[in-house]
Amino acid sequence: MEKHKKPRGLWASIIYMKCPRCREGNLFEKPTFAYSEPTKMPESCEVCGQNFMPEPGFWFGAMFISYIWTAWFCLFFVGGGIMFLGMSVNAAFGLLILMCAIFFFWIFRISRSIWIHIYVKYDPEKRRTLR
Ligand SMILES: [Zn+2]
Repeated sequence: MEKHKKPRGLWASIIYMKCPRCREGNLFEKPTFAYSEPTKMPESCEVCGQNFMPEPGFWFGAMFISYIWTAWFCLFFVGGGIMFLGMSVNAAFGLLILMCAIFFFWIFRISRSIWIHIYVKYDPEKRRTLR
């Protein structure tokens, strides 16, 4: 007998990069820090069939999400490092560049996750009808 799990919340769905419609299928095929193809996405959700490329150029918008939040992050990271931790400007920027390089693919993926969660609404009924 299948045990019914508590549905995943919106933020958990975004953070764990799940399909916005069923919140179960994965948005990406490989883990964030995979050595190859960390940006590869399946064409549709393996659980509910949600199309992950709803229209041509859909993912262009994720670039703006990425830009908005990384710009604010950089501002507060460098500002906070200089003002509250007493770092030099060079040290703060050096650390920022290092952070951005390490988390480059994570930023890319989480921005796509946020973007698709804005457009596709949660609909657990779809999952049940497909099975
Ligand atoms: Zn799904």
